Amino acid sequence: TRSTQVEICQPRRSSIPDNANMKLHINHFDPNYIIYDSSSDTTYLRGRLLGKGGFARCYELLDLNTNKIYAGKIIAKTRISKPHQRQKIIREVELQKTLHHKHVVEFHSYFEDDENVYIVLENCSRKSLVHMLKQRKTLTEPEVRYYLKALVEGVGHIHKHNIIHRDLKLGNMLINDSMELKIADFGLATSIGYEGEKKMTVCGTPNYIAPEVLQKRGHSYEADVWAIGCVAYALLVGRPPFETSTLKETYVRITSNNYVLPPTLSADAQDFIQKCLCNEPELRPSLEQLLNSDFLTSGHMPKTLSPACCSTMPKFP
Ligand code: ADP
Repeated sequence: TRSTQVEICQPRRSSIPDNANMKLHINHFDPNYIIYDSSSDTTYLRGRLLGKGGFARCYELLDLNTNKIYAGKIIAKTRISKPHQRQKIIREVELQKTLHHKHVVEFHSYFEDDENVYIVLENCSRKSLVHMLKQRKTLTEPEVRYYLKALVEGVGHIHKHNIIHRDLKLGNMLINDSMELKIADFGLATSIGYEGEKKMTVCGTPNYIAPEVLQKRGHSYEADVWAIGCVAYALLVGRPPFETSTLKETYVRITSNNYVLPPTLSADAQDFIQKCLCNEPELRPSLEQLLNSDFLTSGHMPKTLSPACCSTMPKFP
């Protein structure tokens, strides 16, 4: 009858959000591209490409059991044929597994099939601070204060677990849906075995390399504080502090501590950067001191940022 037809067309209220959500997710994911983790009996659908790295391609993955979206780093086995390459990935996973902090990308799972190795991670859908800076050129001091606080807290957690990240850079500062910063990529990270241990070499080329790493003087946690100074500079000035047209010239500038602080930066911001970029690692501030610095404790500190900040300059009260 007419009345039953009406009833059928009227969806029950409680079922709308769930179904709508599911449909929205499915639309972004390719039903023909199924990834199956036999170790946990989990099926994923592959979604949009998030980025490409040295080895990995990173895609959004939809877990069909839970309807949750993750970021999946997919590494073709043909690209990791040498044992040391595979070892490096396993070490990266082992280090990241131990870290649980709101400003560190959360590890979810690791598995393999015939073609690929998969590292499933917390999804950071708004990409990285590199992408943001490309759109914005520079960020405002309140925004930089917001991101630096998160960065220093995240690095604090990493160091507490006796790990040095060694490649803190804008591309490894990921941003999630809620505009929270998450530290990613433990590919160059290492663990400190005993107090006072100095590492002599890094297997790879850190982006914001500290002078003691470059000169093989022995390095430790302070190399990350140097990189935090470089991140702060890059976000406020729009380019890294020691940038030149050649790597060789950049290394000369790093070893001679040759960089220019634009006078347009506030005194507190200049002081923060200058202290991090101290040539002597033992004279750099601790993370605790950075959290208590004038730059991070005075001036406007946004509680959250609007996603519009990814492409346009915000106005603060
Ligand atoms: P590789 O180890 O091969 O260098 P990366 O870790 O740099 O790979 O990842 C490649 C790119 O994938 C990154 O630049 C970033 O854009 C993206 N990516 C990595 N992890 C995530 C994540 N958890 N969420 C969102 N995007 C990510």
